[in-house]
Formats: sequence, C-alpha cells, structure tokens
Amino acid sequence: MKFTQEQIKKYLGKTAGELNDAGICHTCFNRASNGSLYGDESQKKFFEDKDIECVFVSNPRADGHIAIITKEHFDDMTKCPNKLNHKIMDFAKALMSIIKEVFGCEKVYLCTMCDGPQNHYHIQLIPRYSFEQRGSKNFVKPRKDYVFDENKFNKMKERTQTFAKNINIPTFVWHDGEPPKDMQVKQVYAVVFDKKGRVLIRQGVEHGKPYSNLAGGTPESFDKDRIDTLRREYLEEVNTTLKDPIYLVGYQTVNEGNGKPLYAQIRMTAMIDKIGSKQPDPDCGDIYDRLLTTPEKAIKLLNWKGTGDKMINGAVKIAKEKFGITEFVDKDEYV
Ligand SMILES: [Zn+2]
Repeated sequence: MKFTQEQIKKYLGKTAGELNDAGICHTCFNRASNGSLYGDESQKKFFEDKDIECVFVSNPRADGHIAIITKEHFDDMTKCPNKLNHKIMDFAKALMSIIKEVFGCEKVYLCTMCDGPQNHYHIQLIPRYSFEQRGSKNFVKPRKDYVFDENKFNKMKERTQTFAKNINIPTFVWHDGEPPKDMQVKQVYAVVFDKKGRVLIRQGVEHGKPYSNLAGGTPESFDKDRIDTLRREYLEEVNTTLKDPIYLVGYQTVNEGNGKPLYAQIRMTAMIDKIGSKQPDPDCGDIYDRLLTTPEKAIKLLNWKGTGDKMINGAVKIAKEKFGITEFVDKDEYV
C-alpha cells in the first residue's frame, strides 16, 4: 500500500482502528510514516522472509509476546492459502519452544484476532509465566510498553533463523528393492541405456537455469501400473520407447520435513527401444534436449546427493547382468 505525503499528513495521529475503518492498513501506514503508530520496528522484527514477519508486539500483554504476520494482505486465516497457514503453524510451534527457552515462561498461548478490512493476517503468541494463573485471562492481561532487550532479541533472532533454515528441506534416503506396501508412490523414474551403455538424460531450463533430470513422472489414476506410468512419461517427455523387461532398481524415501508421512519415488531401469524426434511435452509444452552420456557423468549431471550414485550404480549392475552390456562407451551425444 503506497501513501502520498498528503494522505500521511491527513491520517497522522489516528488510531489503528480509525485507520482500519477508513480502509487503510495500519501496518502499511505505520511503515509509510516512519513508525508513527508503533514506533521504530528495527528493535522488534526478529525474523523476516518472503511470506512472513515475526515481531515483538509494541504493546505486549507479557514479556515475549510476539506476532507472526503475513506480508500480503489477508482479512484473516480463512483468506490465507493453506500452504501459508501450514507454514505459520510450523513457525508458531517452533516459536512456542523458543519463547519458553529465551523468556523462561511456563506456557505460551496462541490466538488470532484479525478483524476489519485491510489486515495482514497474524497470529499472536502470549507467554504465561509461573507466577500467573492459568486460563483465558491471559488473553486480556493489561498491555504495557515493549522494552527492547538486546540479549533476548538476539537469541530469538538466532534461534528462529536456525529453525527457518531447516524447515521444509526435503531429505532423500536410498533403499534397494520394493517400497513398503502401505507407502505412497509419488514418482516413477528410470535409468535407461542405449546399446553402447549410455544413459539418457533429459535436459531443460527451470527458473532460467539449465538442469538435468531423468525422464519419468507421477503415477496417474489411469495408469495400469508403474511400468505404464514410465512408458507414458518417456513418450511424453523425450518421445522414447522402452524395451521389455523393465526392472526395479530401488526407491528413495522423501521426507519433506513438514511432519507428513514419508513417500516413495521408484527408480527402474530398461533398455531404450526407439528415440523419436523431439516433441513438446503435452504436460507443459517444454521441449527437452536428450543427452546420451556415461553413467559416471550422469551421476554428476543429476547431482542427487546421496541417492544418485546408488541408483545409477544399481542400474549399471542390472545392465551388465540382465541387458548384457559389457562396455559403457564414453561418447556424449545429443539426440
Ligand atoms: Zn498493509
């Protein structure tokens, strides 16, 4: 929300509620008017990323009273996308522990009260100390002025940054053989060889950067089985057909770091039957390059740390034993 100097002059001295009723976001107004409403923010905001801010509130009901605020305007929780709501809850959970640790309170209460238009949806975390009675009165403890404590502020900042760095970073673990029956399979890829023992790599551009991948994709309800998924994806993405049989190499489990159950990404291997002309992927319209390269270079190109080498080496073993490949020719070729 942008404000002209005239608007700022007109609304200076109004309360947050009055601004809200006039259809003006008080948070944005506070920023546009150098903290006229809530004072200087630099000693309150201890975390910020592209979606949210974590701040000490200006008029806390207890020491360590903070708010997690969306950067975009959302009237309240109901207007905020689920993904962002989940993220806010993840932060709330972590911050409850961090507040306890830094401020030494006994419990942390949570509430959200976004009323009126033009809101940055936010949730509040209010500490309850051992000398205070339990219960809902903690939500209406008298407000006081925020007092900056550099030591505590820095601890909050450091702990929150550490938490944010480690959240939602998926981790992958390689497993030989079949995934457990009750584990969801969300992806089927394959390491496929030509007669010279070269691996087919799919290359494209994502976010302006070139990247290498295997062909393959997500099982759809209309796929008969995982081999059906694989054949369909190989046709769609790299216009390539595969010979029978297709062998399982193993799978990797994915932990998205969000508390949800692990799921499996299946890795198979096969011999290439025919590579047709380059065609746009019907899914996204992208046209991929197809590179034939050695298994060693494929490991480097994919750069799947911790699972790429196990997958490719497992496929090479099958290629030797089942496909009768004795030589893996070192001659890169775009086809
Ligand atoms: Zn705003």
